[in-house]
Amino acid sequence: MPARRTVAASGAPAALAIRGATVVTMDPLRTVLVADILVDTDGRIAELVPPDDNSARPAQRSIDASGQVVVPGLVQAHLHLCQTLFRGLAEDKPLLAWLRECIWPLEAAHDPDSMRASARLGIAELFLGGTTSILDMGTVHHTDTLFETALETGIRYTGGKALMDTGDGVPPGLLESTAIALRDNDRLADAWNERADGRLRYAYSPRFVLTATFDLLRSVGARARANHILVHTHASEQREETDLVRQRFGVSNIQLLANLGLAETNACFAHCVWPEPEEFDILASGGASVVHCPSCNMKLGSGAAPIAGYLERGVNVALGADGAASNNRLDGWEELRLAGLLGKFRDGPAALPAPDLVELATIGGARALGLDADVGSIEIGKQADLAVLDLRRAHAAGPDDVYTRLVYSARATDVQLVTVGGKIVVEEGKLIAFSEAEAIADAAEQRARLVKRLSA
Ligand SMILES: [Zn+2]
Repeated sequence: MPARRTVAASGAPAALAIRGATVVTMDPLRTVLVADILVDTDGRIAELVPPDDNSARPAQRSIDASGQVVVPGLVQAHLHLCQTLFRGLAEDKPLLAWLRECIWPLEAAHDPDSMRASARLGIAELFLGGTTSILDMGTVHHTDTLFETALETGIRYTGGKALMDTGDGVPPGLLESTAIALRDNDRLADAWNERADGRLRYAYSPRFVLTATFDLLRSVGARARANHILVHTHASEQREETDLVRQRFGVSNIQLLANLGLAETNACFAHCVWPEPEEFDILASGGASVVHCPSCNMKLGSGAAPIAGYLERGVNVALGADGAASNNRLDGWEELRLAGLLGKFRDGPAALPAPDLVELATIGGARALGLDADVGSIEIGKQADLAVLDLRRAHAAGPDDVYTRLVYSARATDVQLVTVGGKIVVEEGKLIAFSEAEAIADAAEQRARLVKRLSA
């Protein structure tokens, strides 16, 4: 890689220097080196230089990270920040009952205050664990609040309103006509896509095949192609769901999404636990990525997605914690470790080597979001979205391979420093983007109010 960004040649001090850490770049050569990372005032990575390079520019702020490990900020490509307040409120149920009996009524009970509290609590947890970019699915209402919260907190956010214009058991508060759902969707895309210098982006988010009409899904595909906006949906999460799709429409789930024009768009399909054999090729030849959510798949008893099989066929795969209602935490390191364990449980111990797993959580996620030119690896010119971990404690110390330590030993609490576009959001393991204590207190208050509204 080039050692310097050309615009950095002015000699002016860098905005930030993170010095002396082992840098796991996740560049195409998977370079790992000990280096100083210099960040320009525009928040992009300006230089990667050896720690003893006397020609390196000075920096306005210099942080000693020697002995620590720097990775690209984690990318989680499937989350529901609107569900953070539902943690522990939807236990021990299979997918369709979990949605109908718990999640949808709770989502329908949200107001803007509870939505904001839910998103802030989720973002606090994400930042503290080193996640810097997310793809989020909102509920049907209060999507502006999600974007406003992402704007304030500083997270790199792609999200959208859940589109639901049909479906068994959908409460009236969430069911919209196709026309109204699309009108609100278009308004939100106009209002939020590419805001805050591109840090906020919109995603068209039909919830899943069983709660969207063909009309709606076709319209989403057409809009995605015309406007180059990401599509985000759930697919083939549980057997009960895939059986119902086949019974109702005579075709398998991912095939149906392809028939409606959604597999060729830039799309993220969450779960894909139960693909039919021919659906591997649909995913490999189209623009869709699979988002693997191992905690959620295990907790809802959904199954083990064939991730090694997807990677062998050339399907892009990302990771996501899904929501606090089905996980019950948003810890990217936990998903990484479980992706490895579940993959090996399913396909044997040679499946999914550690560097490939780190790729899912970083550059694979960035590719899924269409953000790989900007984030997902530590390279000159990219956004300084970084997570610095101290892996010298008892559970992670060791001379062994850094990728293996990152996948199987690292914990969210090892994260010391996190930057998004060069802006520090976590320092010395503490959230500084906003008050964690206030976010927790506000969430507790709003959760009590939301549960009261639900039972009223
Ligand atoms: Zn989900």
